[in-house]
Amino acid sequence: MELKSFEKYMALPHCSEDTELRVLGLAGGTLTGEDEVEQAIEHIAACDSCRYLLESYYFSTMHYEAEKSGREGDRVPWTEFPVFLAGDTIAAADPSQCLQARGPAVLDGGHAREVLFKIPSDTGGGVLTVYPSAKGVSLSIEGPDSAARYYLFTGDAFEAAVPKEGVVRFRDISSPYVLISRDMKRFIKITVGQR
Ligand SMILES: [Zn+2]
Repeated sequence: MELKSFEKYMALPHCSEDTELRVLGLAGGTLTGEDEVEQAIEHIAACDSCRYLLESYYFSTMHYEAEKSGREGDRVPWTEFPVFLAGDTIAAADPSQCLQARGPAVLDGGHAREVLFKIPSDTGGGVLTVYPSAKGVSLSIEGPDSAARYYLFTGDAFEAAVPKEGVVRFRDISSPYVLISRDMKRFIKITVGQR
């Protein structure tokens, strides 16, 4: 994944150094002005090259942190929630992760209409709901305060969202992997398989 993002980045023409520094400043937390942050996010949403740059940065940072924490016995900087789709039903790959599965009491292999996971508090807290949609999955996060902003990466798309009435929603994600972050430091990784 890391390599793929970086290869895609290398294959495209790059933006000016100034623009790239602002994009990386967003990731590193050094870009703090509200307008600057807004502009950088708009740019990333429209610019493939900078999106792959940012994604490469995240993946390399995560691998670095994972390696480091492996040595120090800390936990890795992301939480992974693998799910499986079967038609219009969904199951958690590891049922012990699953807070609750809603829907008809169902179905083979623990499949339900939606699955709920508890997000660790250092990754923003709240409850993540994942459910099947026309193109893949949709998801919502309940519980964040109104100042929170969430970022979603799928390899080919980038979205930012703020809570509406306490709920952040991302709809109709067709990618088999999704990265969500509240602060761009800790990530929730959702992998979507078929079963
Ligand atoms: Zn760019």
